[in-house]
Amino acid sequence: MLITQLKSKDAIASLAQGKTFVINCHGCKEVYFPEYQADELQKELAAEKDITEIMTRDYICNPDHLQLQLEKYMDKVKDADTVLVCSCGVGVQTVAKYLEEKRVFSGCDTYPLPGFQGVTPQELDCAQCGECYLNYTGGVCPITACSKSLVNGQCGGSKNGKCEVDKDMECGWERIYRKLEKLNKLDTLKHPTKVRDYKKPFDFSTKDGE
Ligand code: SF4
Ligand code: SF4
Repeated sequence: MLITQLKSKDAIASLAQGKTFVINCHGCKEVYFPEYQADELQKELAAEKDITEIMTRDYICNPDHLQLQLEKYMDKVKDADTVLVCSCGVGVQTVAKYLEEKRVFSGCDTYPLPGFQGVTPQELDCAQCGECYLNYTGGVCPITACSKSLVNGQCGGSKNGKCEVDKDMECGWERIYRKLEKLNKLDTLKHPTKVRDYKKPFDFSTKDGE
C-alpha cells in the first residue's frame, strides 16, 4: 500500500512553468491520494498561472488507459510547456515515458505504507522513497531504474549502456542522461543532488477532511 503527499505549494508553483496541463490520478483503492488538497491548490494555481486543463482520472499507470484518456486532450498537451502530474511515482513515470518530448513534473512525493501494494501493470516501478526525484531526472526514477539507487549517478561501471550489476538492464543513469538531453535540460545535472532528509515524516494530519 502507498500514499502520496503533495509537494509544498511553493514547489508546485515553481513547477507550473508556461502553459501547464495538469493530470491528477485518483489512484486505485490501495493508494491514498489527497484529492481535496489537490483541488484547492490547483484552483489557487489556476488564478496565478496558465493552467490550460486539469484532467482527473484513475489508473494512469496503465499506459494503454493513459493513452486513451489523453487522446481527446492531445492538442492541449502538445501546446503545453509543462505537464504537472499528481500521482504516485509510477503514474508520473508512465506519463513521462509516453510524452517523451515534454517536461513532465511530479507534484507529489510517494510514501510507503505496510501491506499489499497491488499490481503495477507494467515495467516501471516506484520504491515509495518519500522524496520524489523525478523532477530532476526527466521522469526516470533513479531509485528503481538504477541498481544502486544512486541519486547522483552514474557510478562509472556501465558498459555499452548496460548496468554493471545486471548486464540485461539498461543503465538507469544513461537513461536519465538521454532523457534530459532530449529535453534540453542537461544543465540540471550540474546541480548537486540535495541530501535526503530522513527525518521528514509523512504528515497524516493533512488527510482529506481532517
Ligand atoms: S524517486 Fe522513484 S522511488 Fe522515489 S517517489 Fe519518485 S518514483 Fe518513487
Ligand atoms: S551502471 Fe548505471 S544503473 Fe548500474 S549501478 Fe551504475 S549507475 Fe546504476
